[in-house]
Amino acid sequence: MQVGTMNGTVIIGGGIAGLATAFALQACGSTDWTLIESSPRWGGKITSARERGFTIEGGPDSFITTKPGAVELCKRLGLGDQLTGSNTGKSATTYIWSGGRLHPMPEGMMLMAPTMILPFLRTPLISWPGKLRMGMEIFVPRARGDEDESLAGFVRRRLGNELLNKIAGPLMGGIHAADPERLSLKSTFPMFLEMEKKHGSLLRGMLKRSKAHSTHGGKRPSMFMSLRGGLQQLSDALVAQLPQDALRNGCRALCVSRHAGRYRIDLSDGSSLLADDVVFATPSYVTADLLQELDPAMAARLRAIRYVSTATVSLGFLRSEIAHPLQGAGFIVPQSEGRRITACSWSSVKFQHRAPDDCVLLRVFIGGSLAEELAEQDEQALVKLAREELQVILGITATPLVARAYRWHKANPQYDIGHAERIAELEQAMFRLPGLHLAGAAYHGPGIPDCIQSGREAAQAIAARHAHPARAVRSESSHVVIQ
Ligand SMILES: Cc1cc2nc3c(=O)[nH]c(=O)nc-3n(C[C@H](O)[C@H](O)[C@H](O)COP(=O)(O)OP(=O)(O)OC[C@H]3O[C@@H](n4cnc5c(N)ncnc54)[C@H](O)[C@@H]3O)c2cc1C
Repeated sequence: MQVGTMNGTVIIGGGIAGLATAFALQACGSTDWTLIESSPRWGGKITSARERGFTIEGGPDSFITTKPGAVELCKRLGLGDQLTGSNTGKSATTYIWSGGRLHPMPEGMMLMAPTMILPFLRTPLISWPGKLRMGMEIFVPRARGDEDESLAGFVRRRLGNELLNKIAGPLMGGIHAADPERLSLKSTFPMFLEMEKKHGSLLRGMLKRSKAHSTHGGKRPSMFMSLRGGLQQLSDALVAQLPQDALRNGCRALCVSRHAGRYRIDLSDGSSLLADDVVFATPSYVTADLLQELDPAMAARLRAIRYVSTATVSLGFLRSEIAHPLQGAGFIVPQSEGRRITACSWSSVKFQHRAPDDCVLLRVFIGGSLAEELAEQDEQALVKLAREELQVILGITATPLVARAYRWHKANPQYDIGHAERIAELEQAMFRLPGLHLAGAAYHGPGIPDCIQSGREAAQAIAARHAHPARAVRSESSHVVIQ
């Protein structure tokens, strides 16, 4: 005979998606929930550190502003004055490592498509045959049908191989730590498919778009924002504003099963909880393990979402010891260049408040779908690798003042071709298990605003299921006996 505590809702996973779910439940007036986190630390992939005046991000360093969820949440949490936009102008230039040197991304380039002709014609990054092939894009017919296409397939078909290999692959694939040959365009950059459908050509669509923007005029806000003290300010503020007695960290969920018309969640400390609703804000392979006993078919669907490993290495230097001008946001490295890093952010140029005035902070990216094994090395080896690569690419031989590596084992969900259909089927199958909800990076976007939105939607679904005020009260004497 065991004792289980009764809850309206149990949320499993205290990353941004789980915390956002709890915050949204609280905003709906519900106090009858418990949030379980296996690690002693809240925030999941969000982790920021302060060392010798540097603000170092281990995981995400910013969020996109075109999806408003993260900015709104920061403001609601009282962090409005801490928001800081990425620097613009020259400080926003991205470089591409090609043929042994860094080339600035041609001005007006929007991910894969140029919005301006002249800078593109002038760049030595793309050969003349490559430019000609791109120009032919206006004659390439629209795709027939709605079949999901990979990023690589789409770019190769419309704009040619050279643009794929030098710009679109490393830039857009890099955002998802993905292999462009496997990444679903529909699930990650659907705007390009819409543009093809609407205008018959990306070049035509882009030129129309940039004309429309220049007629509206005005200064555009930063595309990315962060917090002055690092993104962990966001998860810390969420934790601080949630009721402490509802938060249980350092405790792993082991299994979710059915018990007397409710869900039973067994925990690593030997206790168990009963709940009407369970939100899984864990990586989908963890959710699969938790559901294995209850619904093996569902577990198999969840396990089909592939994850890859990545690593970041942050290095802080005295500015005077770096000869490179570092005028920009950083660089990307096409796979064809045969190097061991995928990108480097010049963090203290991209954002203010990242390094002391006389210093610079650089952040190197390693691994992803095309080179996972590199990200699995120990921290010392990662730092060594990052320093060796920066010596070749930026000529940096100085000893860093700070050096921190973060290994992210199976951390990045892959939105492989067919992802949207797989998720639709998964969600359809979830109807068999009323009261179970999925949130987090694996389903409808891995970015922080997407994860926040997924948490909000889970909370709304719970509120809708129990549109009944009696349930929205936390019960003190809620112990029930499980036979
Ligand atoms: C290196 C890197 C850089 C990134 N950069 C950006 C960026 O700049 N901008 C951006 O928008 N996104 C970025 N992302 C993506 C984004 O950070 C993540 O998608 C997002 O933080 C995931 O949040 P989540 O809550 O879904 O999952 P997680 O943060 O993974 O949280 C899941 C939580 O569940 C816990 N857990 C696991 N198993 C159990 C269990 N059995 N019981 C209880 N708890 C459990 C984990 O400990 C963890 O805390 C980046 C990701 C990485 C790895």
